[in-house]
Amino acid sequence: MTTHAPQAAQSVTLPASLEEAVAALTAMPAAVPVAGGTDLMAAVNAGQLRPAALVGLGRINEIRGWQYQDGHALLGAGLTHARMGRPDFAALIPALAAAARAAGPPQIRNAGTLGGNIVTAAPTGDALPVLAALEAVLLVAGPGGTRREIPVSHLLAGREMLRPGELIGFVRVPLLHAPQVFLKATGRTGPGRAVASVGLVLDPARRGVRCAVGAVAPMPLRPLEAERWVASLIDWDGERSLAPEALEAFGEYVGAACVPDQGDPVAPGVLHLRRTVSVLARRALGRALTS
Ligand SMILES: Cc1cc2nc3c(=O)[nH]c(=O)nc-3n(C[C@H](O)[C@H](O)[C@H](O)COP(=O)(O)OP(=O)(O)OC[C@H]3O[C@@H](n4cnc5c(N)ncnc54)[C@H](O)[C@@H]3O)c2cc1C
Repeated sequence: MTTHAPQAAQSVTLPASLEEAVAALTAMPAAVPVAGGTDLMAAVNAGQLRPAALVGLGRINEIRGWQYQDGHALLGAGLTHARMGRPDFAALIPALAAAARAAGPPQIRNAGTLGGNIVTAAPTGDALPVLAALEAVLLVAGPGGTRREIPVSHLLAGREMLRPGELIGFVRVPLLHAPQVFLKATGRTGPGRAVASVGLVLDPARRGVRCAVGAVAPMPLRPLEAERWVASLIDWDGERSLAPEALEAFGEYVGAACVPDQGDPVAPGVLHLRRTVSVLARRALGRALTS
């Protein structure tokens, strides 16, 4: 483990293992973990955060790749968006790769990590709807060698929090071996934050369609009734195709569920956002079924 003291008030510790990082955080309760720094340093530069000390996660090799376990992939929290966007990762978890490719400009994708995206939990976090649709589980390392699991949806909904000294080590996602799609609408051309996004996965073994809508609420929303309804229409043992009217109805179902009326008459902005979500959901399912 290396420690630097760039200023009297601040130290930067660079542990080489997850265990060392947890130990450093436990020893310095005021310290904050930093991975790629794209969110954290933006907050520091904006004067919103003044960490007394930093524990850098960039030298922890064990969380920079992935491994396989019982039909799942254990993704290291230190995987960068750039790494997840590469073809070998895309062959494994296509929707997460697509989200990673959409996550900001190249310099952000080179530094920004999966773990940072989850902990920042911005509504516009591109990985988040995909992780919600995959029903990903976070593997958390804590003081004294403790390990616990948190469904990503519980963390994003604030039903569970990381405790002092805890770090996300890995993210467990099922390998579904079936089409999956991520689509994102931005307010302007080129890379930008999502106005709305959709992560959609087919799960043939469970005969399920799982869909999560990002950016329209503080956390990704799952339109569970729409998922169940459309899954019941699909011939899972046959061609897995759907009539255009069914795709359209699915889109509208998802839009109405995730962007509800907030007044009477419904504001034009709400109608526009609902329409955007409907189109994304319809296209995502259509692409998944024809892949
Ligand atoms: C210009 C710009 C454009 C962007 N565009 C997009 C975009 O289009 N889509 C998108 O999704 N994001 C975007 N982002 C946000 C950002 O790049 C991502 O959220 C990124 O994934 C954050 O990862 P990081 O490693 O940089 O996190 P950091 O900044 O290092 O950390 C963020 C937070 O996570 C905590 N943390 C990090 N790793 C762990 C861990 N393993 N365990 C526990 N806590 C941890 C840190 O303490 C901190 O609180 C953009 C950011 C910028 C500056």
